[in-house]
Amino acid sequence: MSYLKAESIGQALTLLKESAPESRLIAGGTDLFLQEFPERLIDIGSIEELKWIEEKEGFLEVGAGVTHTIAGGSDLISDKATALAEACLQVGSPQVRNIGTLGGNVMNAAPAADAAVALVALGAVAVLMDKDKNIRRVNVDQLYAGYNCSAVDCSSELLLKFMIESCKSGEGSAFVRFAARRALALPMVNAAVRVKIKNGIISEIYLVAAPVKPAPTRLLKTEELLLGKSACEETWLKAEKSAAGEAEVRGSLLRCSADYRKHLVGILVSRAIQVAALRAIGGKEEG
Ligand SMILES: Cc1cc2nc3c(=O)[nH]c(=O)nc-3n(C[C@H](O)[C@H](O)[C@H](O)COP(=O)(O)OP(=O)(O)OC[C@H]3O[C@@H](n4cnc5c(N)ncnc54)[C@H](O)[C@@H]3O)c2cc1C
Repeated sequence: MSYLKAESIGQALTLLKESAPESRLIAGGTDLFLQEFPERLIDIGSIEELKWIEEKEGFLEVGAGVTHTIAGGSDLISDKATALAEACLQVGSPQVRNIGTLGGNVMNAAPAADAAVALVALGAVAVLMDKDKNIRRVNVDQLYAGYNCSAVDCSSELLLKFMIESCKSGEGSAFVRFAARRALALPMVNAAVRVKIKNGIISEIYLVAAPVKPAPTRLLKTEELLLGKSACEETWLKAEKSAAGEAEVRGSLLRCSADYRKHLVGILVSRAIQVAALRAIGGKEEG
């Protein structure tokens, strides 16, 4: 096995070009090393250009190399993309969060990866660069080819950053999850919501629950049902029922049965919408 450390995006791409298809990018390694030991590793974990968080022209730009700890502790992300900060703070344990990155979370393509679920609900766009420095922009939910299978070839393309439209006045987002323990347990279900409320009415909503499909997927029927409805208790109950009905879940011997998971989808979606709506209207959250 050979191990090379890239100090810049340009160097990582040159190394990829010289050695594909044997080479694999490694960021934190918290997913990769559980699955395989590739012939040739290109370590992108020290590339500063992949670790920026900034706001530009109404968009939050978050580098693929940003760790969960940094994203979860960022005031800018907490303020403008709250669901993402909340998701990152619930990943694994402090050790995993300190080294695991947002890029790795998405590229590993697990259907219920916490940061990925929040990114899809926030409508995030991934910016990728190939070995010949061509750039392409793709919605995060389009980066999946199947269960645990990315649509991106990690031996030839580098994920640079995510672009997320900054949350404005009248908008709010939230992420919630349920797992057997509060740390070091993958979620039985997680849910993330971004909502816009105008004069007490839901005027825009992105709603994701996972694992429902091979990729973090929006619950489009429930979104449609909620559009134009008042932000009130009756609507949250409708959301719970609709989301549970719409979710095509699988049972898991390790985590929970399909019936229990379906029930959880309803509860978590309803909870996430309520928190996001409260944030959108500037209400006070209970501690
Ligand atoms: C004990 C433990 C607990 C965990 N708990 C959780 C949890 O609660 N929630 C959760 O969501 N995840 C969890 N994870 C999974 C993991 O920590 C995260 O998915 C993490 O974000 C992966 O990031 P990484 O930098 O370690 O990725 P890596 O392992 O370095 O890479 C993963 C994949 O992405 C590719 N890749 C990485 N960066 C790029 C890039 N910039 N461009 C192109 N390809 C790239 C790699 O080639 C590889 O295929 C846990 C893992 C462990 C070991």
